[in-house]
Amino acid sequence: MKKILNFFMHIFNVDCSKVISNEKIDYEKVKTASNIITELQNDMKSYTDKGSGPFVAAIYNDKNELVVKVANSVVNEHCSNNHAEMNAIKAAESKLGTFDLAPYNLKLYVTAEPCMMCIGGIMWSGIKEVYYGVPSKSVEKITGFDEGFKPNWFEEFKKRGITVYGNIATDIGEEELRKYVNEGKNIYTPSR
Ligand SMILES: [Zn+2]
Repeated sequence: MKKILNFFMHIFNVDCSKVISNEKIDYEKVKTASNIITELQNDMKSYTDKGSGPFVAAIYNDKNELVVKVANSVVNEHCSNNHAEMNAIKAAESKLGTFDLAPYNLKLYVTAEPCMMCIGGIMWSGIKEVYYGVPSKSVEKITGFDEGFKPNWFEEFKKRGITVYGNIATDIGEEELRKYVNEGKNIYTPSR
């Protein structure tokens, strides 16, 4: 059955073969996420040109309307906590005037797997669904960023009612990360 679905998703230009989740995979959700994450990747250059990136996140409401879209800003805003996911959560909470996003049933889309800090940030925010592009292993391999240790986070999120889908539109995501590295942009890991 999965093979047949993959075939049709391939026709619609969505590669589902690598997608992982902590729920039974819903192909409509994957298709929507693939479109949004691809769009975020296409926006990357406008952010990296300004010293942000190479990660972008967007939060959508349950009517699939955009709430906020931001890149990470560690380098240009001098803050190691300013990852794309943290910036998106801060912007959404500020816009909605609340510290608790749960009643809004929001979905976070991000170009790469959240690091250990962002997993904590997402857990505290009340975000209900998370969709990410490039997995941490690939991010670390391509860029040298240390994404941290994240034991059983899919299961831990499931226990807390947070749905996760990963490895969406990874080809374009890996390509954008390679570009960032090849252009000699800042790999902002702390010196050890
Ligand atoms: Zn992070």
